[in-house]
Amino acid sequence: GTGIGSWPRRRARKTPGRIAIVHGDDTQTYRELDETVTRFARALRARGIGRGDRVAYLGPNHPSFLHALFATCAVGAVFVPLNTRLAAPELAYMLSDSGARLLLHDPGCAETAAEAGPGIAVAVDELVDGNGDGDGAGAGDDRADEVMADDDPCMIMYTSGTTGRPKGAVLSHANITWNSLNVLVDTDLASDEIALVTAPLFHTAALNMTCLPTLLKGGRVVIEPGFDAERMLDLIEGQGVTCLFGVPTMFAAVAESPRWETADLSSVRILMCGGSPVPTALIEVYLRRGLSFIQGYGMTEASPGTLLLDREMSAVKAGSAGVPHFFTDVRLVRSDLTGEAAPGEPGEILVHGPHVMRGYYGLPDATAEVLLEGGWFRSGDVGVRDEDGYVSIVDRVKDMIISGGENVYPAEVENALYDHPDVVECAVIGMPDARWGEVGKAVVVLRTGAATDPQDLLDHLAGRLAKYKVPKAVEFRAALPRTASGKIRKSALR
Ligand code: ATP
Ligand code: MG
Repeated sequence: GTGIGSWPRRRARKTPGRIAIVHGDDTQTYRELDETVTRFARALRARGIGRGDRVAYLGPNHPSFLHALFATCAVGAVFVPLNTRLAAPELAYMLSDSGARLLLHDPGCAETAAEAGPGIAVAVDELVDGNGDGDGAGAGDDRADEVMADDDPCMIMYTSGTTGRPKGAVLSHANITWNSLNVLVDTDLASDEIALVTAPLFHTAALNMTCLPTLLKGGRVVIEPGFDAERMLDLIEGQGVTCLFGVPTMFAAVAESPRWETADLSSVRILMCGGSPVPTALIEVYLRRGLSFIQGYGMTEASPGTLLLDREMSAVKAGSAGVPHFFTDVRLVRSDLTGEAAPGEPGEILVHGPHVMRGYYGLPDATAEVLLEGGWFRSGDVGVRDEDGYVSIVDRVKDMIISGGENVYPAEVENALYDHPDVVECAVIGMPDARWGEVGKAVVVLRTGAATDPQDLLDHLAGRLAKYKVPKAVEFRAALPRTASGKIRKSALR
């Protein structure tokens, strides 16, 4: 088997002395990473963890997350990363839903972990120490990675929970591997890559679009506990970061920094953005700064990479999420799910490829709804293809507003709002309306000190959009509710 658990050992065989992980002032080479994973694997075995068992992990980004992931997979168990923003009862639900036998946690999450998983919580720094075995040499036989089949599950990864209760996507070793291969084929990611990981590793994009492909290739990952715009600029300059992924709000915050014009960003080669609609105004700011801003589109269920814009096309096809990954196929279908949408016609995005999940853990009905015949996955997102096959993401089907019989995609309205210089954040949601069925309402965060009033914004939109798309109301707020991955929680706004 070529399971994820074998990656550190295979890498250590090739490039033992190269730095794999940077965390603050600490670094770890591939040899050290492999030794740590072996120690972790032995400690898991000592606790009776083996093939098929679920091991949950709760903590912010830290090298321990990766050690726990690789070691869990190396003993044939299934890794279940948990969202640190959730409350103990929500975590308890996921622990029982996934049938976790062990909850490894960051020392800082001890209280929540003990409450959510009484009897199974173990601080990750005590896992190895508590095993009374500090010797990491040899011990290859403590690891079962050679017997893992590609179709065995390696992770249960919960979706972001943007539209409802998070669902556990069962991802196999092959799923994760093919996704990483897609990234390596479709970007210039190289063995001297220095990838900055600031988005949470417990969500798919940070782990699978940057971290794992970089480690597969023998590059270096810089692990940060969280996102901060100034710190991001410091790290890009100080570490010579070459590759990063972020959601649009992260890149918007960086562009707002007073150092935006002067910081040395020349090392950055691969700048991937996705996870929620990417405003055109944001793309333009990055292109003007000389960066090739590439939009990607994916979802937890597809491990996640589905569409990616080529670097050479970043200016030509700005606003599009590109074409399917090399080993991926995408169809845009009409609402009957079979007829193909014509170029220019919005259609639901269906995904096919070796990186698409086997199903949602313990949810056969939800799985049957999204996995169609022939293995096509129903994304619930609307896209539109141009004559050259480049796909632009329109919005989620669920977020669409039907106003007076016309379909309004909030993302298009938000995109037009972002063209206004005083709009920092915005969300358009549908409100029930006696006359029109539904009408749009814009919830907007303005730049501090801005004098813009609701009518100014409505006038701004009237010049850009058809009348039926212009919201009927505007509300100003100081901030918008967000998920841990930085997505606006429209359900909470509604
Ligand atoms: P949940 O499924 O629990 O409601 P979620 O869909 O936000 O949450 P993820 O799997 O993290 O969970 O996110 C995938 C979704 O993110 C996609 O289905 C799509 O709606 C959105 N998305 C991803 N990339 C883009 C993009 N480039 N443009 C617009 N939307 C995107
Ligand atoms: Mg989803």
